[in-house]
Parts: sequence; C-alpha cells; structure tokens
Amino acid sequence: LEPKEEFDHSSLAVDVMRPRRSDPALAVLTQESMTVEETLVESTHYSGFPVVVSQESQRLVGFVLRRDLLISIDNARKRQEGVVGASHVLFTDHTPAAVAPEAPPPLRLRGILDLSPFTVTDHTPMDITVDIFRKLGLRQCLVTHNGRLLGIITKKDILKHMAQMSNRDPESILFN
Ligand code: ADP
Repeated sequence: LEPKEEFDHSSLAVDVMRPRRSDPALAVLTQESMTVEETLVESTHYSGFPVVVSQESQRLVGFVLRRDLLISIDNARKRQEGVVGASHVLFTDHTPAAVAPEAPPPLRLRGILDLSPFTVTDHTPMDITVDIFRKLGLRQCLVTHNGRLLGIITKKDILKHMAQMSNRDPESILFN
C-alpha cells in the first residue's frame, strides 16, 4: 500500500470487511470443539481462519494460517500415534471435560495460533485502518463489534475497495 495513496475518509471497516451481507458466514474454527476432519478446511481457499471460543460467543481467541494448519495436520497424521480424523483439535492448553476418555488422542495446535491478531472495530474509519496496515505490514485484520468477531479485511480487500473508489484496476495500485 503506497503511502501517497489517499483513502476516502467516509468509509468504515464495516464497509470493506468480508463477509458481505449476501455472502456465506465468516469461516471460523472453534478453540476446542472441532475434530481434525472438521478443520480440514478443503471446501474453502481462505489463507487463514479466526479461532473463536465457540460458535455462539464468536469471541476471538486467535488466528491460524491455512498453510500452518494443513502442514500440522499432515505431520500429525504421519508421525503422531493415534491422531485420526475424529481426534479433537485443541487450540487451548487444557483438555476439555467433554472429550470422552476413550476418544482418540487430541491434536494440540496452540503452537501455530497467532494469539494477538490485529483487530479493529466495525466503526473504525478506513483511513486509520489503512495506515495501520501500512505501518505494521499487515496481510489481514479482524473486525469486531462489542467483542464479537464480525469479519475480516485482507490487504487485497483494501486494494479492491480503493480501486472501486477511484475507478481503477486494482493491479495498477502498486504495493509491496
Ligand atoms: P486475499 O484477499 O489475499 O485473496 P484470502 O484468500 O484469505 O486472501 O481471502 C479471499 C477473500 O475471502 C477476501 O475477500 C477475504 O476478506 C475473505 N476471507 C478471508 N478469510 C476468510 C474467512 N475465514 N471466512 C470468510 N471470508 C474470508
């Protein structure tokens, strides 16, 4: 994102974030209630997934990159005794009480979780958000409302929005 690139001052994070109203819901993982099979996010191509406490709370725990998730699952299936599709994926430190003693061994993935992903609220002006993307070199940031996860903004989402605003081809807005 080039520093000279001006951003229109009226847009808010909620105007740029995904999902849009008509889109399918944000694809999230829960911190301890999903199995390896359920986290094998092969039906989507997103680069990453927010991890939440539970689907009901939508409280943000962290962010995991798709690449790290796939590598860890693949490695565990090859090397870790007993990890199967039905194994629980745990992004927490403890083992939840709900996991039956006879269940297959869980797969612990806290190590690949980014515990402090950058977040803005839905009403954060986009010029401030863009400034943060530039200064911190972010690839994505999460959007919350009253502590609940609402959406995600990627660098490409910002570039597309800028291009729309100025009626230009997104590829022509240079960034590194
Ligand atoms: P990029 O924007 O660089 O192509 P992604 O492939 O991760 O990065 O995202 C593609 C689109 O899907 C973007 O518009 C982004 O906002 C959205 N997106 C990214 N991650 C998720 C997710 N977990 N759930 C829903 N939408 C997402």
